Amino acid sequence: MDAFSSMTRADEIEAAARSLALHVRRAKAFVVLTGAGMSTECGIPDFRSPGSPWLANPPMPFDRFVASEDARREAWRRKFTLDDHHKGALPGEGHHALARLVNDGVVDTVITQNIDNMHQTAGVPADKVIELHGNGTYARCLECGRRHELSFCRRMLEEENCAPRCEACGGIVKAATISFGQAMPQAEMQRAMLAAGNADLILAIGSSLLVYPAAGLPLVARENGAVFLILNRGETGLDDDAHERFDIEAGPVLARLAWHLSRRVN
Ligand code: NAD
Repeated sequence: MDAFSSMTRADEIEAAARSLALHVRRAKAFVVLTGAGMSTECGIPDFRSPGSPWLANPPMPFDRFVASEDARREAWRRKFTLDDHHKGALPGEGHHALARLVNDGVVDTVITQNIDNMHQTAGVPADKVIELHGNGTYARCLECGRRHELSFCRRMLEEENCAPRCEACGGIVKAATISFGQAMPQAEMQRAMLAAGNADLILAIGSSLLVYPAAGLPLVARENGAVFLILNRGETGLDDDAHERFDIEAGPVLARLAWHLSRRVN
């Protein structure tokens, strides 16, 4: 029974990879949109799956964060609890496969909802990654924009019992992520809209496609004539809008896709 199940899974992975490869070979401008499901194979939990530590440590809305020192301390405590949960996490096979596809010129742009820096760690050049929700591996002053390292923020919280303040101007320091209620980063949104609008193939990977405006990007691409594909375990908010959907673990499929595309067989 085990052998039978694993055969079935391997067959499904292979079928999805082959089908994706056909689409990719036809494409001239291939853009990828990634979500939290891209990183679950690295041990970084997604937001909505049952038992997610995000549910016990929900993100602090922006207006509450800026309103009080108590809220900021609590927000930093939750962030470090979540960070400790996946301390030392490394990119998975999906990240490595995608990095290979970008570096081989197959994927033009990776638009990500993720804040974990895993695409860059896997080798995607920073200028090929558009981070729509920021980056949680460092912090910035909300007043002057100066970058602060998390080690400094943690020391302030744990040794001084204070939410960190900017070393340059004394402003509020916040993880460099986009919180609920915080404005989307304009330059990144513009670049993402442009990339989606110019794509002739867009693949959403590991995203529930419920969080807007990110989830609107495949629709922009599709309205401009692109083929829209979904590679996600479970349902998404845009299943009915996709041309084709692969309900399966992303990492092994991407690894096989990269393998197929590395062979010069048409
Ligand atoms: P989500 O949690 O809403 O959805 C993730 C989707 O991925 C789910 O449908 C899930 O079933 C699927 N999934 C999980 N593991 C998978 C796998 N191995 N292969 C294929 N699919 C898999 O995530 P979202 O739509 O990206 O939105 C959540 C928000 O929370 C994002 O805006 C993001 O900023 C933030 N977030 C980021 C991270 C991260 O940076 N790694 C982690 C959690 C949440």
